[in-house]
Amino acid sequence: MAELNCDVAIIGAGTAGLAAERSARRAGARTLLVDDGYNGTTCATVGCMPSKLLIAAAHAAHAVRQAGLFGIEVPEPVIDGRAVMARVREMRDKFVDGTLESIANLPEGVAVAGRARFASSTELTLADGRRITAKAIVVATGARPKIPEVFAALGDRALTNETIFDLPDLPASIAVIGAGPLGLELAQALARLGVVTLVFDEGDKFAGLDDPEVASELIAILEKEMPIHLGVKIEADLTDEGVELSWSGKTSGKRHFAYVLVATGRPPQLADLELAATGLELDDHGTPLCDPATLQCGDSAIFMAGDADARRPVLHEASSEGAIAGRNAASFPTVHPTERAVAFSIMFTDPPLAVIGAGRTDDHVIGNASYADQGRAKVDARNVGCARIYADKSDGRLVGAIIAAPGGDHMGHLLAWAIGRGETATTLLDLPFYHPTVEEGLKPALLEICKIVHAPMSPDRDDGIPPGA
Ligand SMILES: Cc1cc2nc3c(=O)[nH]c(=O)nc-3n(C[C@H](O)[C@H](O)[C@H](O)COP(=O)(O)OP(=O)(O)OC[C@H]3O[C@@H](n4cnc5c(N)ncnc54)[C@H](O)[C@@H]3O)c2cc1C
Repeated sequence: MAELNCDVAIIGAGTAGLAAERSARRAGARTLLVDDGYNGTTCATVGCMPSKLLIAAAHAAHAVRQAGLFGIEVPEPVIDGRAVMARVREMRDKFVDGTLESIANLPEGVAVAGRARFASSTELTLADGRRITAKAIVVATGARPKIPEVFAALGDRALTNETIFDLPDLPASIAVIGAGPLGLELAQALARLGVVTLVFDEGDKFAGLDDPEVASELIAILEKEMPIHLGVKIEADLTDEGVELSWSGKTSGKRHFAYVLVATGRPPQLADLELAATGLELDDHGTPLCDPATLQCGDSAIFMAGDADARRPVLHEASSEGAIAGRNAASFPTVHPTERAVAFSIMFTDPPLAVIGAGRTDDHVIGNASYADQGRAKVDARNVGCARIYADKSDGRLVGAIIAAPGGDHMGHLLAWAIGRGETATTLLDLPFYHPTVEEGLKPALLEICKIVHAPMSPDRDDGIPPGA
């Protein structure tokens, strides 16, 4: 069987793997990129893009329903489920085409089709028996949905993010299992598109939030659009027309659904990589331990990137980890640490949830802002939610934030950038805040921090609140 040889072999042609290949090649390495499907990345095919397309349709339906608040009378929107799903797929396929084009543009011979597993820490075996020897290897194999046994028995009535976007029509009803960001985004979108939607979770955690007060506020907002059952054990039975679901625990009940959407987590796809052949140290879940600054596993020639390392399973991190891992794999055994950007994730519900930076510790103070009475949010009839900003208690330096409020996706960026630049509540308040905007709604939180940490106030700053701010 053929023997292939390179400096850096990358397993997985998703966002992380493509970035790793580019980065290693830019650093002068001879690269091989191995993938068993070359489908065009999780993001474009079954992740970020189709989910946002479905959410965009839901926003349109919601805006029509809200129009009456502004004195614009329109009848209840008629939702053509087939047309909604057709647009999701049509647009999704265009995004996929873009990714496939970048794969097609790889230099000749770089893309190798096949499923890889380790033979040793510097050797891979492909399913067809070919072997690849590399000086260093990047594992960028992504993650796949976990389907608990009770739902696996439901066959194609149990949807995941890998199948839901291929439904020809919107279902009449759906039980979303998993109150994490992925489940909640899709649940709210489906509910707004007229699908009878209920959310269930065995645990009590909501949207992955560690802050119980923000979690309860967000639950109260989202529950107005769909029932949410946390802390329940679920049983599911297949029927002729769908699934009979019964749940018990904090609440109990029984109900028939056309489908369930299983959103109970996406663990790294490592099971068939034969990691045992590498001698790497693994965590309790079987994921190799790697240094987040270099993405190197121990002092081995193996690097991790993207969802495969389970650390920050979001797209910009897959891309940045790919770049770091690829560069270090190319220079192995010399590796250079990179200072990682502040952690930042968004759940694209309405209101969106942005979680930035460090969680709260005893060294932090909290500034709070409510959007229930915020000027611009009221103008737009979106006045719900809150923002919490965490700051170092010694100097008011911003360290983290949770925003569950209108415009949270955009304000989250501003705060992520501010935290990354080492801004304090005072230095941020010295910057311009346009009126009337939702950004102004952050001021009370920043002022609260200044007050708690006794930050000196700039003599030229006016802390008066303009009308409707
Ligand atoms: C529904 C959904 C919505 C999302 N929305 C967002 C969002 O709005 N914003 C955001 O930032 N992130 C979002 N994400 C997360 C984001 O999509 C992922 O973080 C990102 O796509 C991960 O990229 P990756 O390169 O690690 O993995 P992937 O793109 O999954 O690539 C892994 C590749 O490895 C291949 N592979 C695996 N094992 C092997 C093997 N043994 N041999 C050969 N090839 C192999 C796979 O076939 C695949 O092609 C979403 C995810 C989902 C599921």
